Amino acid sequence: MRPENAARLAQQPKDADLPGLGQNYCIQCARHFITGKALNEHYRGKVHKKRVKDLKEEAYTQKEAEAAVGFTTDNGTRGGVRKSAVQDAIMTDLDQ
Ligand SMILES: [Zn+2]
Repeated sequence: MRPENAARLAQQPKDADLPGLGQNYCIQCARHFITGKALNEHYRGKVHKKRVKDLKEEAYTQKEAEAAVGFTTDNGTRGGVRKSAVQDAIMTDLDQ
C-alpha cells in the first residue's frame, strides 16, 4: 500500500454509518472499531498480528513474481524487447 493511501485511510472523514464514526480503523484488516481502546486492543490481538504477517508474506511473493517476469522473457527473437518493456513497467510502478 502506498503511504498516501495509508494516510488517507487512517484519517477518514467522520461517517455516522460506520462503527466509531469511522475514526478507529485498522488498515491492515480493513476493520472499523467503535473506540480507540477497542482498536488498540485489536492491534495487540492474534487476528491483527496474523493479518500483518500474511500481508508481509504477500508483498514478498509479489516482489518475487515481478522479478520472475523480468527474467523469464529472455527466450529468443522478441525476448529483448519484451524484457525491457516489462522492466520499464516495473520501474514506473515503483516511482508512483
Ligand atoms: Zn488489524
